[in-house]
Amino acid sequence: MDYDEIRRWWRVFVHPGALVEVRVISDEFGTESGYFSDIETLLQAIARYDNFNIYYSINEVKSDCSARKQYNQIMRVKRDATSDSDISHRWWLPIDVDAERTSGVSSTDEEKEAAHQLAGKVYTLLRNEGFADPVVCDSSSGYHIMYPIDLDNTPANTETIKKFLSVLSDEVSNDKAHVDKVLFNASRILRMPGTFGRKGRSTDERPHRLAHILTVPDQIVRMGDEPMRRFIQKYQVVMEPPTSQYERREKFNIYDWLRKYNIGIKGEENKGGATFLYLENGCVFDPSHKGKDASIRIDNATGAIGYKCFHNSCAGKRWRDVRLLFEPNAYDREWKLPKGQQERAGIDDPKPQKAEVPIVADEDEKTKLRKRFKPLSSIEKLDISQMPKVKSGFREIDRLTGGLLMSEVTVLSGTSASGKSTWLNTLALNVVNQGVKVVMVNIEQTERMLKNWIQMVAAGDSHVIPEERKFADDEIRYRITEETGHIIDEWLEGKFYLYADDESTKWDDLLASLCVMAEDNVRFFILDNLMSLDMSSIVGDKWEQQKQVISMLQKFAKKYACHCMIVAHPRKPQGFIRKYDISGSSDITNLADNIFIMHRANRDFYISGQTFYPKDEIERYYKSLPKGNVMEIVKNRTYGVQDRLVPFIYSTKSRRFESASWGVVDELVKDETGKNKLMKVQGFRAQHFTYDCELKMSSIPDAPMNSFRGDGAADMQTSEEDYPF
Ligand SMILES: [Zn+2]
Repeated sequence: MDYDEIRRWWRVFVHPGALVEVRVISDEFGTESGYFSDIETLLQAIARYDNFNIYYSINEVKSDCSARKQYNQIMRVKRDATSDSDISHRWWLPIDVDAERTSGVSSTDEEKEAAHQLAGKVYTLLRNEGFADPVVCDSSSGYHIMYPIDLDNTPANTETIKKFLSVLSDEVSNDKAHVDKVLFNASRILRMPGTFGRKGRSTDERPHRLAHILTVPDQIVRMGDEPMRRFIQKYQVVMEPPTSQYERREKFNIYDWLRKYNIGIKGEENKGGATFLYLENGCVFDPSHKGKDASIRIDNATGAIGYKCFHNSCAGKRWRDVRLLFEPNAYDREWKLPKGQQERAGIDDPKPQKAEVPIVADEDEKTKLRKRFKPLSSIEKLDISQMPKVKSGFREIDRLTGGLLMSEVTVLSGTSASGKSTWLNTLALNVVNQGVKVVMVNIEQTERMLKNWIQMVAAGDSHVIPEERKFADDEIRYRITEETGHIIDEWLEGKFYLYADDESTKWDDLLASLCVMAEDNVRFFILDNLMSLDMSSIVGDKWEQQKQVISMLQKFAKKYACHCMIVAHPRKPQGFIRKYDISGSSDITNLADNIFIMHRANRDFYISGQTFYPKDEIERYYKSLPKGNVMEIVKNRTYGVQDRLVPFIYSTKSRRFESASWGVVDELVKDETGKNKLMKVQGFRAQHFTYDCELKMSSIPDAPMNSFRGDGAADMQTSEEDYPF
């Protein structure tokens, strides 16, 4: 063995302070293992094993394992080798490229060259897909491409790596070399660079070779799961039965089918257990997608068929779509699958559930299943009041919901003119004012327009001035002074960001950008709106795509402990919107943690609202809140609040929304002599608030009177006062 190369391996691969397992595997002595936290001790311990195959644990072993008896020495072990649960962290994503050959022997030079070719292909492919630079090792019979990652050892991450290796292998493996699909579990071991591959006898043709490091990037950049997830999304192929379940499958032959529709085959390739057919005229959906961009894939074992075209416009196209293109009625008789099941990768061959109760006999399986149930004592107590949250800044909403919880997703809906986007502008600043960083993605508005609106809201009624210019509709428009604008810019610096115009509206791109901002401590994300996102990279129809977006946002919110608020337009443009009017399937509303619907207190609201809410409540909003809006809390997961209406008053001057409370308000009326008088009446009063930035602004007189008079003389209280001017 080569001690210096082993030292180099230690420097490159072992995370500082981490515990490593070394395993020696031989036919004669079985498995021997040792834990080390120091390279020189390790070298001494393995010195006598030069004639054996020596492996190391790729990922960091929990320090507790150093209490096992094999610490600092290598010894025979039966049970206490490292298991998946002994791994504390994943630092490397291992891609093992190996030549196809008889098991238990070293590769020939020719076989190894096939692995070399494939390793090069993997390296280039993943670099083009945005992966960080890997460390590449000669593994003696093949190659190890090791990508630096930084992931916790969680079942979700294991699942991502498993899926990634499988999709990668299916994509690149050929009959001479393959990418190992099974290296996903956390406690995997690989041959240690600096030691020899000792498989079989060393012959001239199949020599034992020294494993060693080939290249180390100048800088090790660790990746999260995002590049893998993107790769899966792009390269995953949905394999499905060739026919609908009502057709007789054995009669279906893909070659006959292609002939029938005059689709010529240009090339055929066998890789990763599947047959790839490349078509003479390129992609069936767009003939400009040529070469190997599009292919039909047949799973050699099951006969399942997939279609893959890498062009964006073909994202999500699968075998079924190909068939429908030529045979529009092919699936007419098909039994409709429940949503969500349709998209599942791999073969989904729907069979009606057999009416049998399963019997579990295997003891290990029983133990596993039993663990799915927990006694309450083992579950940590939930203290809602202690959960991280941010206030909406609207008193009544906060009183009812306790605030917006970090790690949750809120869906906001309402008709097109209900004031959703405007309300969000105020909300964004309410959140900023609490010292929480906010990102706003508004795909339909330009950044300059949004800046203008946000600045008006930030200034408030007291700091906006009327435009001198007259407008056609005779309405007075307001603006802010340059000085006020500077104060607002300064206040928002580093706390509030808009997604730039012309940036990609592709969901994958956007989500990646949001993750980066979350890493920079942004904790509140506003997305306006769901329907304007480009979701073409997500497999499935529009409803399925929207559902996936919400579900991914939820994972995002949990991962980064942030709150996401996303606007979903309703299916109908007008009327009194209910939960089931929110676009997409009911999945969206089921998934969302909170659902708010914004209503305009207009005639639609007055008429339809009465079928769901008490007439007097609806009437009060309609009559006393003439320019107001009502927010309906439809769902609130944490406190179970539902079916509550919260009134808002909108200021046309500053475009600010404020909660409205019912009570005594001032109203200016003329008395019999034509003199102005201030009367006390029942009505809605805006609950004013002041942003920190306002304290720095020089006040402009003519302060607002955001209140609306209540209806009916009976309500009126008549304590009069002279109006001061
Ligand atoms: Zn295509």
